[in-house]
Amino acid sequence: MAEKAADLMTTIVSLCKRRGFIFQSSEIYGGLNSCWDYGPLGVELKRNVKEAWWKSMVWGRRDIVGIDASILMHPTVWEASGHLKGFTDPLVDCKKCKTRFRADHVTGSTCPECGGELTQPRNFNLMFKTFMGPVEDDSAVVYMRPETAQGIFVNFLNVQQAARMKLPFGIAQIGKSFRNEITPGNFTYRTREFEQMEMEFFVPPGDDEKWYAYWREERLGWYAGLGIRKENLRLRDHEKSELAHYAKACVDVEYNFPFGWSELEGIANRTDFDLKQHSQHSGKSLALFDEDTKEHVFPFVIEPAAGADRATLAFLVDAYDVEGEGKDARTVLRFHPALAPIKVAALPLVKREGMPEIAEKIYNDLLGNSISSFFDVNSSIGRRYARQDEAGTPFCATVDSQTLQDNTVTIRERDTRQQYRVSADKVVEAVTEKLKGANR
Ligand code: ATP
Repeated sequence: MAEKAADLMTTIVSLCKRRGFIFQSSEIYGGLNSCWDYGPLGVELKRNVKEAWWKSMVWGRRDIVGIDASILMHPTVWEASGHLKGFTDPLVDCKKCKTRFRADHVTGSTCPECGGELTQPRNFNLMFKTFMGPVEDDSAVVYMRPETAQGIFVNFLNVQQAARMKLPFGIAQIGKSFRNEITPGNFTYRTREFEQMEMEFFVPPGDDEKWYAYWREERLGWYAGLGIRKENLRLRDHEKSELAHYAKACVDVEYNFPFGWSELEGIANRTDFDLKQHSQHSGKSLALFDEDTKEHVFPFVIEPAAGADRATLAFLVDAYDVEGEGKDARTVLRFHPALAPIKVAALPLVKREGMPEIAEKIYNDLLGNSISSFFDVNSSIGRRYARQDEAGTPFCATVDSQTLQDNTVTIRERDTRQQYRVSADKVVEAVTEKLKGANR
């Protein structure tokens, strides 16, 4: 079983490279450990994941607005947030082969790689340090943010006042974060540079449990609504001992990856810790004035914190399917149409009788409507369908001899391989209708 799972990851990693989803960073120089680049299909997939998140968190709601804060922040932010002191993982080294492990990722005191003796655990801060300006001294030290959340907390009053928000309301952000992970791995699951999709939802104290319950279900439903099989998703409540000292409750949305159940997203009740800490350290109160009670209150915060790369990997793994066997086998990425990198492929059945020209016109129509599409004339139609199945393209529009007679084309659906005809002038309309249905 374990071997089968490892095989599956290897197959997916190689499919990702071959088809242009994900490449190793700086590959021609031997690669850089734990860093990955998204290729032409991957960048579309990840953008679609982020857009689906933004739609569900911001565009589709009246109570959440977005921001885009800078990666480098005032160093005191990290003192106030507790990251300077507490954002550490226990690290152990193998005395023999020198490999490093996160102490909570190994059992016992022997090295899983070579059986050598492990050192005692010591704390290792995960924040990347750099220098601002030309002088590299202590006063110039700044940190690459290890989470996007703090950019939201420090802007809490700016946003509340500018957008005139009233409790309960949320602030959402998507952006890069950096952690000097001790043991990155499992492809893009754990990397040192990654993208987060975080939302801080501010609620009156006392309403926090209600909203915590709400966001647990809402976030689990988001993954399922975009096609992840329900049996591969679960919520795992944190034990009291796992909770950060300020957190009242925390739950992980987990996905059943080939390497085991692992966190996709954490949803935490962070109490009023963050706003109070930043008020104390900055000397500027981030409390809100409550018109009803005429008192200042520190809202409680419910935080759904997801990773764009982890979610993208889960959507990839879950979509991967092989139908049939031997030379009849077909590899299909069954992406939800909203996530599929290419929505439609315009294909002439053969390279003659004016078919390529008609297909190209359809292709231009699709592009003119900003529908991510592809045009392919080379090799047999079966091969071209197979290439689109492997890229996860939900629809192919094929120009054939009947097109020359009645100006209709075949629409072929990826999952069912069902085919039906629509007018060549109505491909954009038909596909838009299908995509709309899928996006509901
Ligand atoms: P883990 O326990 O896996 O280290 P975490 O609990 O520290 O993760 P959070 O701080 O809750 O993670 O971050 C929120 C989300 O950001 C995670 O659920 C994950 O999707 C994403 N994330 C965190 N660290 C990484 C990483 N090193 N690589 C990719 N994504 C990450």
